[in-house]
Amino acid sequence: PARGEVVLSARGLTRRFGGLVANRDLSFDLKAGEVLAVIGPNGAGKSTLFNLLSCVDRPTSGEVSFLGRPSTGLTPARIAARGLSRTFQHVKLLPTMSVLDNVAIGAHLRGSAGLLRSALRLDRAEEARLRAEARRQLDRVGLGAWADRPAGSLALGQQRLLEIARALCADPAVLLLDEPAAGLRLQEKQALAALLGRLREEGLAVLLVEHDMDFVMSLSDRIVVVVFGEKAAEGLPDEIRQHPKVLEAYLGA
Ligand code: ADP
Ligand code: MG
Repeated sequence: PARGEVVLSARGLTRRFGGLVANRDLSFDLKAGEVLAVIGPNGAGKSTLFNLLSCVDRPTSGEVSFLGRPSTGLTPARIAARGLSRTFQHVKLLPTMSVLDNVAIGAHLRGSAGLLRSALRLDRAEEARLRAEARRQLDRVGLGAWADRPAGSLALGQQRLLEIARALCADPAVLLLDEPAAGLRLQEKQALAALLGRLREEGLAVLLVEHDMDFVMSLSDRIVVVVFGEKAAEGLPDEIRQHPKVLEAYLGA
């Protein structure tokens, strides 16, 4: 997609869990070459939204379209294959396996129907192709020198980069990141922010759900604020910082 083109679009998304409305009438667009952050207090409905966008869950009403086509109702594997990739809040690694193989296996599982089929069909040529792709993505996130180490030996910040390398396999158009800065040291956050800035320059669309306000403010092109499941504000970081609804939600003003 060309820079500035809308790649992911949510219209009137509502998700009810019994009597609880976790998302209410949420609409926004994500464009190629931008970093969009969704922020909001605990329980605001951010993870629910993330699950709707990545087809892990379906909305009660409303629609999502990805690259101009409706995506509501696709499976997570199908939308991943079309170019929407996500990370999860908690890093899932095979700690004794190499960093390279962790990325290669993740890439493989992402693009296939499941483990059994994978195990049956993975021939040597395919294995070599996956390793080459994994190496390319590790270089892209700055972990190339760590490729042969056990994944369990990485610091948390590097594990997050590994997860992103995995999500970048097959060059998605959209990257969804669930609290990527959580638990990271300042230096690790800076490395992560630098990476996301580079991906934006390459034309990727990045949507992140994040608690860390400093991280979000320094990195994002635009911010959507969700409070009690509803969009309370949307704007540039400087507009959001001063927005009365944001001050109210975060500071109880
Ligand atoms: P956030 O990620 O912003 O902290 P969530 O999306 O996890 O918020 O949750 C929003 C609300 O929806 C919360 O009140 C939560 O308890 C509720 N919720 C989320 N998922 C479910 C579910 N599967 N069943 C019932 N309630 C849920
Ligand atoms: Mg959450």
